[in-house]
Amino acid sequence: MALVDEVERLQDAFSAEVASTETAEALEGLRVRYLGRQGLLRGLFDRLPEVPTEERREAGRVLNELKSAIAAALRERASALAPAVQPAAVPLDLTRPGVRPRVGRLHPLTQAIDEIVAIFGRLGFSLAHGPDVELTYYNFDALNAPPDHISRSPSDNFYITDEVVLRSQTSPVQVRTMEQQQPPVQVISVGRCYRPDTVDATHCFMFHQVEGLMVDEDVTFADLKGVLTLFYREYLGPDIEVRLLPHFFPFTEPSGEVHMSCVFCRGAGCKVCKGTGWVEGAGFGMVDPNVFEAVGYDPERYTGFAFGQGIERLAMLRHGINDIRLFFENDVRFLEQF
Ligand SMILES: [Zn+2]
Repeated sequence: MALVDEVERLQDAFSAEVASTETAEALEGLRVRYLGRQGLLRGLFDRLPEVPTEERREAGRVLNELKSAIAAALRERASALAPAVQPAAVPLDLTRPGVRPRVGRLHPLTQAIDEIVAIFGRLGFSLAHGPDVELTYYNFDALNAPPDHISRSPSDNFYITDEVVLRSQTSPVQVRTMEQQQPPVQVISVGRCYRPDTVDATHCFMFHQVEGLMVDEDVTFADLKGVLTLFYREYLGPDIEVRLLPHFFPFTEPSGEVHMSCVFCRGAGCKVCKGTGWVEGAGFGMVDPNVFEAVGYDPERYTGFAFGQGIERLAMLRHGINDIRLFFENDVRFLEQF
């Protein structure tokens, strides 16, 4: 058989064999058989001297091309047979514990508010609401603070206009409630208050307050002391002692300030209570007859008490938090502790 025909036959045979080779080992065997030192292609090269001299050059070129084509086809098949990179097979196990989703929670101040509302609810107080952006009439005048009163100073309030202010206390809700309702009145109001205080560990330009108001015939100072004592013992602990010290507020007379035994040292004296054993609580007092007259209650017939307590301060005492700013920085590491 002529060399040219042999080349063609070898090419066809190789093409069929390489296509049906399925393993790297078989492919290596194929390579040795065709391109090896004793291989089939070598055999063809050895027959080159048989070729007439004038055709030998062309025959050599054809054999070299076949050699390159076989080598290329072997490489291509090898990469096609190489195992694809696959992830390690992990058998599906339906009994393995799942990934627990992160569950959100209420902000510590919201938790405190919910608890405070519940405690006063058990004492018979219902919840009253009022606007954060308030008329100066309700924030000051109706609370017995005349136009020249020091509490109306622009440096102590966020004025919107001369007659509109961000409420500096929740007391306006008391007036709004009394305007709409005859005694008996027994309400608390809870919400944000605003004062341009410089922010530090115990002050913020926005804070939360709970205020209480109870008006009826024969409401006395003893009722006031009973309600506040029960409240602090419910929220801060059953062994909390409460004492009342005189103070001044324009809309109550007499007025006072609650001191309760320090929640950290239980009265022994520590850094928080500055060694006194007592910490400040709510401001309170018996409602001034002028306030009753402003809302149309008969001051000869009705008496009542009111009090106001900062909620951040209560939550700080309860949880041993030493900086009010933590409540508003939204650091999840802090919030997740409650
Ligand atoms: Zn103390």
